[in-house]
Order: sequence, then C-alpha cells, then structure tokens
Amino acid sequence: MGILSSKIDRSSVMLQSELVFEGSLDVQFPTILDNSERSYSFDQKDWVHCKFKLQGSTLECSTSESTVETILLDNNFEVLNEQGSSLIFTVKFATRDNSSQQWKLRASSPEEFEKWTSFVKQSLRAEWSLKDFCMCCHTKFGVITRRHHCRACGRSVCSECSPVMTTLPHLGYSTLVRVCRICGNELAHKRKGPQEGNSPNYTQSKKGNSPNKQNKHKPNYK
Ligand SMILES: [Zn+2]
Ligand SMILES: [Zn+2]
Repeated sequence: MGILSSKIDRSSVMLQSELVFEGSLDVQFPTILDNSERSYSFDQKDWVHCKFKLQGSTLECSTSESTVETILLDNNFEVLNEQGSSLIFTVKFATRDNSSQQWKLRASSPEEFEKWTSFVKQSLRAEWSLKDFCMCCHTKFGVITRRHHCRACGRSVCSECSPVMTTLPHLGYSTLVRVCRICGNELAHKRKGPQEGNSPNYTQSKKGNSPNKQNKHKPNYK
C-alpha cells in the first residue's frame, strides 16, 4: 500500500518538485543476455517484492535487507509501456556506471498502478524557469508580452515562441499543453521522422485574420 510520507522536511516544503511517495512494487529484474547488444530476458516467475521511495528526482528501490538501486529520474529515464490490465509497467534508466537497464514493475492494485505511473511521470517534468524575458526571442515580459511556460523544458517563453499545443504522455500530460518552438520541433521530428525537415510539423495556434478568398458567387454550371 502506498502512503504519502508524513515526514515533511522544512527545507523541501517550498519546492513543488519535492514529491515524496512510498510504497511497494513487485520487480522483475532482467537477465542480461548480451550487454553489448542490450538484449534482455524476463523470467516470468521471478517477481521480487521491493519497497520504493520516490523523492524529488530519485526513485529508491530496496528489499528488507538492502538498497537495490537508486534510480535517477533524469533524461535517461523512461516509462516504456504500461499494461493497466496486468498492472505492469516497464521502466528504462541508466545505472551509475551508465549502462542501460530495463525493469518490469507490477503494482498491487489498479489504484496503485495509476499512482505510481502518474507520480513517476510527473517527477520527470522540468521545473519552470522564472525569467523576465522570453528565452527564445529575448523580448521582455510585461503587460503586452505575457510570460508562458513550455511544459516540456520549463523555459519562460512568449506566446509567439510557443505556438505549439500538444500532449506529453511521457510527462503525464494527456491533454493539450503549451510547448516552446524548440521542443515543438524536436517532438515533431521524433514523431514524424527526419523527412520533410523544412516544413514545420507543429500546429500554429494563432490564426491569420484574413478571410479565405471566396470564389465568385457565380455557380460553375448553367
Ligand atoms: Zn519569444
Ligand atoms: Zn521547450
């Protein structure tokens, strides 16, 4: 059963990213068949009951005897697939010696599954920077140019430089959220592949005011 920690460290109260969540998950550690080719095999029977503690940007996994791994929730961390029906999700991360690892994690109930997958993804979100100028075009923010934040990288940007609205499922955003031009282009590139590199793949939220030129009212037939 997962419990929100009642221990509140005063120094961390102000930080919204300092989310503390504890509970247990079953882990299937892979047998690494060939480290150079990164091929893994999961033994279906071997589920190990482990305690997990999510704090800030680390996820600590331990058994009753010892700490197994302290997983850094950084750029290398990813939730690879979520199988809600079997309460299993796979995580990919880099260990301290920089080798790539994949673990299968199994929650004990649909509620626990939902909590763990959403908390883990939320903790990957970038902290919002609070600059007084747009970090893309350097325009100073004020009454006319308002500050917005890219949900992917956290940059402070103006609306002109954040015309993209998209979902970011890997960060737990399932509805359309604002991203900056740079992240929008990166996402479009990742999703659609490198072809047609010159055409912007994002959706421009600002629409031109000029009405479409209509054809003359004359019908084309007699
Ligand atoms: Zn801008
Ligand atoms: Zn961005």
